[in-house]
Amino acid sequence: MIRCHYFDVGCWTELLRKDFKKHLETEAFHHSILFIEGQNKKNEEIKELKDKLNKIEYENNQKFDILFKAMNLSNEEEEKVEPNIEPLPIRKQSPLKVKI
Ligand SMILES: [Zn+2]
Repeated sequence: MIRCHYFDVGCWTELLRKDFKKHLETEAFHHSILFIEGQNKKNEEIKELKDKLNKIEYENNQKFDILFKAMNLSNEEEEKVEPNIEPLPIRKQSPLKVKI
């Protein structure tokens, strides 16, 4: 017994290999309907996946925008902070003796 080649799209016929050719001939119209319905279902699934992907991409872009804005704000705040460095004590140095 073999499964019809259109088993996955809805022709759940199992038959002897010798009867398969006749099945294909007699069920040609039925198979074509199953095939078209299967394609339509796949197209709907592809559209749903594309919509989900677009939604995820949009949400991620928004999250990155917020993240980058937050990073830029924190960088600006860091630049505003004056470094708290005490001046070094001035050492008296003996003048250099230069021979001419
Ligand atoms: Zn079939």
